[in-house]
Amino acid sequence: MPETKPVQYGFSGYPFRKLSLIFLSILFLVVATTADDSSFPSSNTWRPHHSKKLTKPVVLLISSDGFRFGYQFKTETPNIDLLISRGTEAQTGLIPVFPSMTFPNHYSIATGLYPAYHGIIMNKFTDPVTGERFKRNLDPKWWLGEPLWVTATNQGLKAATYFWPGSDVPKGSWTCPKGFCKAPYNGSVPLEERVDTILSYFDLPQSEIPDFMTLYLEETDLQGHKYGPDDPRVTEAVANTDKMIGRVIKGLKKRKVFGDVHVILLGDHGMVTNCDKKVIYIDDLADWIKIPADWIQDYSPVLVMNPRWGKDVKNPGEKNAELVAKMNEVLSSGKVENGEFLKVYLKDKLPKRLHYSESSRIPPIIGMVGEGLLVRQNRTNVQECSGDHGYDNMFFSMRSIFIGHGPRFRRGKKVPSFENVQIYNVVAEILGLRPAPNNGSSLFTRSLLRPSGKTAQLE
Ligand SMILES: [Zn+2]
Repeated sequence: MPETKPVQYGFSGYPFRKLSLIFLSILFLVVATTADDSSFPSSNTWRPHHSKKLTKPVVLLISSDGFRFGYQFKTETPNIDLLISRGTEAQTGLIPVFPSMTFPNHYSIATGLYPAYHGIIMNKFTDPVTGERFKRNLDPKWWLGEPLWVTATNQGLKAATYFWPGSDVPKGSWTCPKGFCKAPYNGSVPLEERVDTILSYFDLPQSEIPDFMTLYLEETDLQGHKYGPDDPRVTEAVANTDKMIGRVIKGLKKRKVFGDVHVILLGDHGMVTNCDKKVIYIDDLADWIKIPADWIQDYSPVLVMNPRWGKDVKNPGEKNAELVAKMNEVLSSGKVENGEFLKVYLKDKLPKRLHYSESSRIPPIIGMVGEGLLVRQNRTNVQECSGDHGYDNMFFSMRSIFIGHGPRFRRGKKVPSFENVQIYNVVAEILGLRPAPNNGSSLFTRSLLRPSGKTAQLE
């Protein structure tokens, strides 16, 4: 543009008009060839209000349990690929919280809290203070923090959940309403039925459509546990999970809302092979230190110990520290088979990056087990080769996927891996909710989401 001439807006000057028409023609061709769904907002054509069928933000949060990062490369996954190419992906996967188990992670995704703060410190555990056992209990006293379905309903929005761990616990304004809260978990409900139930919510009058919905698929986890992550039957599970995502996309397109809905596809953790060749036997330490079996609450993938010192022991904390020091000395001596793959800690001395100390529910001694290794009391235990998770969340095999697709997610964008405690704030931001206190960063949402409203057009 020559500096001496005023900037021309519109089509009054012929040469400018001609150039504009050529530019618009090219733009049209680019848009027409890259978008097969005219309702989908691309970065070139996105307008926050035009072509919207939904007049409010809606989030559909889908978990494929145990979908290890990389599973998407095992086979053809055209539907997951579509979400990736038109959405935002954690390029090297979603990092679970420690321990990388199902209940702690699903509840961290829902609350933005590390397990030490939301209270579900393992899938199953015994509270060392009260002696009470947690095993999928629905008593609200176990479930701390504020999950998204509670935040949404507390602030006047509607929520619908399908088998998400913790979603059938009454809390705040959330009563697990019939018809909008599928629970308890029932693995025999076909995946198609789950998807179709979610899709049916979009047939409701606009004001009745839940603003926040969850969907839970578990085939990748089941097959991964049974056969290990490298088995062809896991590949089949991945293909079938992709089919279910295809069913979601097709159903949303049929209702002309695919471009309006924020679809988040993720998993709670990955999966790794464990084989009987890689076992640490606690009894192998017996020549140096005797550890009663009833001091051990869990062996692997996390060794959990709550020593029961006699009444004559005045300072059990000191005794625990001595026990930890002695165990580590023996394990690292080279005299115990695979001993170098187990390190025990007083919970207060665990690496800070695990955020696994600040809860009275966490037993005093935690053993970090090497990737894919098993811990057993003695050799009489039956061993088998299968798959497991729960290990240190630093291991790449424990990562899952994150893909966000919809108006607020950037198209074709890759972001570095992040921990799943960030997701609570992301969903809250999309839905315009005031987030409850959580361990995620409020600034993180900016790296993942477009600004809302008109300012988005300035990008
Ligand atoms: Zn899981």
